[in-house]
Amino acid sequence: MGELIKVNALKKYFPCGGKMLKAVDDVSFTLQPGETLGLVGESGSGKSTLGRAILRLHEPDGGHIFFEGEDLLKLSKEELRIKRRYMQIIFQDPLASLNPQMSIGHAIEDPLIVHKLGSAHERKEKVDELLEIVGIGSKFRNSFPYEFSGGQQQRVGIARALALNPKFIVCDEPVSALDVSIQAQIISLLIDLRERYNLTYLFIAHDLGVVKYVSNRVAVMYLGKIVQIGSKEEVFRNPLHPYTKAIISSVPKIPWDGKPIRRYKTLKGEIPSPIDLPPGCRFRSRCPVAKRVCAENEPELREVASGHWVACHLSS
Ligand code: SF4
Repeated sequence: MGELIKVNALKKYFPCGGKMLKAVDDVSFTLQPGETLGLVGESGSGKSTLGRAILRLHEPDGGHIFFEGEDLLKLSKEELRIKRRYMQIIFQDPLASLNPQMSIGHAIEDPLIVHKLGSAHERKEKVDELLEIVGIGSKFRNSFPYEFSGGQQQRVGIARALALNPKFIVCDEPVSALDVSIQAQIISLLIDLRERYNLTYLFIAHDLGVVKYVSNRVAVMYLGKIVQIGSKEEVFRNPLHPYTKAIISSVPKIPWDGKPIRRYKTLKGEIPSPIDLPPGCRFRSRCPVAKRVCAENEPELREVASGHWVACHLSS
């Protein structure tokens, strides 16, 4: 089966004090239909910028984004508007993404109106169906976002993202702002919807436990670059990149006595300024195993096992 999304050498830079902040710097990956790629990394690694650049919510500065074989960067504004129907986003803060003066029914119907889809009656039926599917209930269609809890607001955000029958959804930290008890419900809903509609997700999160649960493959980002990408099993079993090792090891383990412990020391060393990156590997100031070569050459992603790629001079 052909890939749904192919991102090739994508770049997104922001001017900053006369220099360029390389938020996304030469990133490539593919996504198969129905697949979920988990994207992890610290704040400032470029995860959200990458998700938005793929949807052209941030206009990329270079590279290509193919959606079903068509280069999105070559589309006119009108062509892109039509194509966007199939590519949606779920935001971290559901309340901020909803208009407080719009009822939730209207908020979900709005994309259908914008895309001139269905009669008023058909749109109402669709909205009611979506409200049932996400577990809110159609009787609440005239309620306003502030009347709901954070988890319910995120369910509305999900219904809105589903309104146009998308194929691809960027889930941009969709549970980070929610209570832990609610996170599992939203994750479970997203998984159900993926199975039901064969959705493809780019699932951005900083919680590795969530990513491990949801994803088929995992990509690790550091300062604008993917440093490791592979199947979930490979990346977690074999975290070859020292940064991947560090973030996986820093997840608290729960031993028999129930007291969370950390088995790995917190990463030491300064994070280089993203507007003034040093030559060589951009992780070297924090890398516990850096060698001289790391200061001289920037490591490229290399395939170390089938479908498992790592950007580190010392990984093999
Ligand atoms: Fe560490 Fe060198 Fe590998 Fe970079 S290339 S992660 S500095 S060992």
